[in-house]
Amino acid sequence: MSLTREQVVQGVKGIVSEERVITDKHILKESSVDRFRKYEFISGVYTQHIPAAIVKPENTEQVAEVLKYCNENGINVIPRTGFSALEQMLESVKENHIVLDGSGMNKIIKIDECNMQVTCQCGVNLQELDEILQAKGYTTAHSPQSKPLAQMGGLVATRSIGQFSTLYGGIEDMVVGLEAVFPNGEITRIKNVPRRAAGPDIRHVIIGNEGALCYITEVTVKIFKYMPENNLFYGYTLDSMKTGFEILRQVMVEGYKPSVARLYDAADAQGHFSHFANDECVLVFMAEGPKGIAEATGAGIEAVVKQYPECQKVDSQLIEDWFARLNWGLEQVEQERIEISETKNMGFTTEVAGCWDCIHEIYTRSIERVKNEIPDITWMGGHSSHSYLNGTNMYFVYYYDVNCAPEEEIHKYHNPINKIIVEEALKAGGTMVHHHGVGKARAPWIKEEYGSSFYILKTLKNAFDPNNIMNAGNIIPVDFLK
Ligand SMILES: Cc1cc2nc3c(=O)[nH]c(=O)nc-3n(C[C@H](O)[C@H](O)[C@H](O)COP(=O)(O)OP(=O)(O)OC[C@H]3O[C@@H](n4cnc5c(N)ncnc54)[C@H](O)[C@@H]3O)c2cc1C
Repeated sequence: MSLTREQVVQGVKGIVSEERVITDKHILKESSVDRFRKYEFISGVYTQHIPAAIVKPENTEQVAEVLKYCNENGINVIPRTGFSALEQMLESVKENHIVLDGSGMNKIIKIDECNMQVTCQCGVNLQELDEILQAKGYTTAHSPQSKPLAQMGGLVATRSIGQFSTLYGGIEDMVVGLEAVFPNGEITRIKNVPRRAAGPDIRHVIIGNEGALCYITEVTVKIFKYMPENNLFYGYTLDSMKTGFEILRQVMVEGYKPSVARLYDAADAQGHFSHFANDECVLVFMAEGPKGIAEATGAGIEAVVKQYPECQKVDSQLIEDWFARLNWGLEQVEQERIEISETKNMGFTTEVAGCWDCIHEIYTRSIERVKNEIPDITWMGGHSSHSYLNGTNMYFVYYYDVNCAPEEEIHKYHNPINKIIVEEALKAGGTMVHHHGVGKARAPWIKEEYGSSFYILKTLKNAFDPNNIMNAGNIIPVDFLK
């Protein structure tokens, strides 16, 4: 029989001290959702299960005890660190769940300058970590837009990707080792070695698990030398996305590794670069690293772009200045809430990926269909944000006027828009990128069939079905836990 809310609260209080169990009603309500439901949140309408408690463990052993207790008593657990998720990842499908909040586990354990790695607890904030490293001449080189908000556990759990990924990769390329706790309370350590090749890489069972499989308590990531004095910035205006994609492709194919390689369409460019874009697309590059490498990368980019006389170079300072203001902290989140409540104009994003031969089709078809099929769309644009040897990501940004009750907004606008973009990506041979596309929580069959997010592993067999929207490339062996 399920425990009552009071029993759940008493149970966790018996494991961690009383002040580590939060039961304030307002805080609990706010913890029932993430930014996926920002309109409901702003309107003070809470339609999801309200947690029985937020539990703030002090150490790995407490995480293990809490998970074991919840596992034995059928209590759903939502892991959380920075609270910047935007995909229903922090919602529970079962009532009387707890949020296991590791933000208090925020010690940097070791900066290892010999082996170029840093070990920290799950609650270490990325921006703070990077500032400490930068003062010593190093950097994580990981810079998602949510850097001021996100913490190491959540970053690894979401396979997060940052602005310099074209050179350094996503967080999955940066993680060296981990400590994680499984639902039965078992603590697993994956040690910090440069390479392993016996069987599948078990780090990838944990990286990107979205808090569905285990709780990440400690993370070791690579560090790199920090040399901002060598950074080179490049910006160009051009009139065609097709040409822009071809330039990105050529830069990658020729073997250059810019840290930033982005292409904004005219609409999105207007939002970012209105002072010089003049209704054109904008191409942005950044080259970095040791001086000689940065300069050679920059020269390579310029040589590729030169083949396209329609590209007009802009002052590099404009790009450098723009870049310095790209990240979002609490202030920007608050400002957005104010604007939405005043205007009822809602903005969201969806990210997909495709190879070079289909990315332009994905881009044009998605924009065309969303504009045609979704009522109240006020604006839509997009940019390619991370490039690879074989393709790129496309990040769609869209706004609509909300003409419905807060609790209907997701169904009337956001889900249908996502569906169109993901459908077009899949049809053309691409895929969604889960952290802005369809995370585990968005797949309704998971909710209906299994409830507890910790049982998601059993459902991953669905990922092998090519028609399934979850087939995003993050396939984990089924029956792993047996
Ligand atoms: C303005 C804004 C910009 C963003 N830009 C980017 C971007 O550029 N790139 C990008 O990748 N993402 C971006 N995001 C999304 C989000 O910031 C990332 O997914 C981030 O990695 C989440 O980290 P967090 O610490 O806030 O995690 P949370 O929000 O606390 O949790 C996110 C997910 O991870 C799980 N989780 C959290 N901690 C743990 C843990 N210790 N163990 C196991 N599971 C855990 C949760 O259950 C949840 O499923 C952005 C979000 C916002 C609001």
